[in-house]
This record gives sequence, C-alpha cells and structure tokens, in this order.
Amino acid sequence: MTLQPARRVSVLGATGSVGVQTLAVLSHLGLAAVCLTGGRNSRLLETQARQFAPQAVALSDPDAARDLKIRLADTSVAVLSGPEGICEAAACEAADTVVAAISGLAGLRPVLAALRPGRRLALANKEALVCAGALVTAAVRAQGCTLLPVDSEHSALFQCLRGEDPSSVERLVLTASGGPFFGLDRDALRRVTPAQALAHPTWRMGPKITVDSATLMNKALECLEAMYLFSVPMARIEVVVHRQSIVHSMVVFRDGATVAQLGPPDMRLPIQYALTFPVRMPSPLPPSDWAAAPALTFAPPDEDAFPALALAREAAARGGTAPAVLSGANEAAVSLFLAGEIGFLDIAARTAAALAAVPPDGGSLEDILEADRAARAFVRARR
Ligand code: MG
Repeated sequence: MTLQPARRVSVLGATGSVGVQTLAVLSHLGLAAVCLTGGRNSRLLETQARQFAPQAVALSDPDAARDLKIRLADTSVAVLSGPEGICEAAACEAADTVVAAISGLAGLRPVLAALRPGRRLALANKEALVCAGALVTAAVRAQGCTLLPVDSEHSALFQCLRGEDPSSVERLVLTASGGPFFGLDRDALRRVTPAQALAHPTWRMGPKITVDSATLMNKALECLEAMYLFSVPMARIEVVVHRQSIVHSMVVFRDGATVAQLGPPDMRLPIQYALTFPVRMPSPLPPSDWAAAPALTFAPPDEDAFPALALAREAAARGGTAPAVLSGANEAAVSLFLAGEIGFLDIAARTAAALAAVPPDGGSLEDILEADRAARAFVRARR
C-alpha cells in the first residue's frame, strides 16, 4: 500500500518551538489534531486545544496537567497527566501520523509508544535517534512504520536520496550555519556569554539547541542522527559550514554528482514535507527568487575551536551507549553554561571528559537511560 499524506495528526511537544510551527502547518494544510502534548505550559496548551479541538491533551508535569484540566473543564477534551499520559497520547489509535517534537531524551519513550503498523512517524526529536538509533530504527522496521525526518538537514538528505540506490552513495554532506561564533578562535570563545550564544544568525529555535548550534554540537548530534537514519558509516558523513543556511544538506554520489536540497531556513518546510510525503503541497512561504539569492559559500569547520564533531566521531567509534553519554553530558553542560556556572569552552571539555569516563556498555532502553543519567551526574559533579 502506498503511503497517503497525513490527515489526522498527534503532536508530541506541541508547546515547543517545532510543535508550535507544526500546528501552523496543520492549520495551513487543514489537517486535524488528534492529541497534543506538552511539558508544563498549560496556558499555551489550553489555547492550542481550543483552536484544534483534539480528543486529548497531555502535560508531563502533573501540577500543570491539573491546572489544564480546570482550564478545559467546559470542553470535551480529555486531559492526561505525567509521562504515562504523554505515552498514552502518543499511542492513541485515531492518529495516522505522529509528530515527535519533544526535546531531549524524555522524547524517547513516547516515540516508541507511538509506533503502530502503517503509521507515519515525523521525527523531530534528535535524542531518540542519537541515543537510541539502533533501537528506534529496529522498532520502526518491526512495527512497519514510515519514519520521516523533520530536522532540516535530514529532511534534505532524505529528499536527495529519494529513488537512489544506497550503493550509489559516496558520502553525506551536512551543512552547518556555523552559529554566532563562526570565525572566533579559542581565546575569543573563552569569553563569550550565554546571551551571545543565544543570538543565532539564521534559525529560530529553543535555547538548548541554539547553544548546541554555537558549539557545533548540534551538527555533531546530527551526524550521529544521519548515521542511524540512513545507515551510512560516520567516516562517510562530512560537515561543511554554509553561512546562508539555504543549502540544507547534500549527497555526493559515486559518479561524482552532488545532489543538494535548497530552500529558505524555515522549519515549516521540512515539517510540511514530513506530513505530505510522498506528495508536495503549496506552502505559505514566499516563492524562491534565485536571481536575487545571496552568494552561497562553503568552508570546512574549524575543528580546533569547535571540538564537537571529533566527539561525535569518537562516540560513533566507541559504539554502545557512547552516543547517549555524549548527548546527556552535553545537555548537562549546556545547562551549567546557561546558568553562568561554566564557560563556553567547558561545554565540550566536560562532555569529552564524560565520554572518556562513562563506560559505553549495552544498548537496551534501560542501558541508554542509565548512560544518560551517569553522564549528567559526571558533568554536574565536576563543578
Ligand atoms: Mg538541524
């Protein structure tokens, strides 16, 4: 049976940056929302529930869920609570498509709960693939789901690879904006502040991923994501800095041809593609005017100033739960940086130390969650 475009969609992480943009796409395409979930933002989820009239909503924070239940008392929307409530919403049968946009490892269990035969999973949660790539891709295959990447680079790679034989692929080239600190050396990076790290030149995103973009850890995690998603070894995944964020990624084929996907840096585009694939629909974005486009530039990343890419290669080489250690350690270090407790360069330093110290054993869901916990504890203990 060929895949039909999405019609009834559940959005996990509806109150976050990708979630809010996903709802804008649902509105534009006239698609129904089945379940909407969030963390603790009961006000925003109330507004979204009144606009989209889903069957159910869920908040992972029980106090916020209680508040939401009161706010929605005059409606027929069911209110679920806690991490179990999120998984219940993810599993809800009425959706043909689930957009997984919860940020962090908290999104992993809901992703696994969302898998159903024939269902479309539009995956925006990086950590599910980075930390549990083997587990998630195996579960997707076993359940007969279609996995569509929402991350702009992976959506681009998916589009470039469409219809191509895997044996034709020479390498994947992920583009990186370079973030706000492109061109700075280690000495300058030592002094940058959280406020400077949060000012991204092209993409509008949440704080954690914006800092990851400044350290290039976002690109490092995306390399791991691509490795699992497209079954391409890390040695054949390359990163180039492309300041304009117009080429979203490229595939180099073995005949020497490169296929790239281009478009404005707007997440609504990859979100919409993940929902309408295998067809394309008109979007609300202005038409591309290539005659007026800026010059497109490409440069190698400065791996001395930004050691994150080397850490991703190391995590891939160590295997097992090493990617989960990398991700968990980085997230803990980013929190310390945003709280003003450590410097910008300490983010990668602490992450590297955790990667070296926490053993990468196992690969089960429990092993992955434990590796994440151990990595975070290691980073926090080294104040
Ligand atoms: Mg991305």
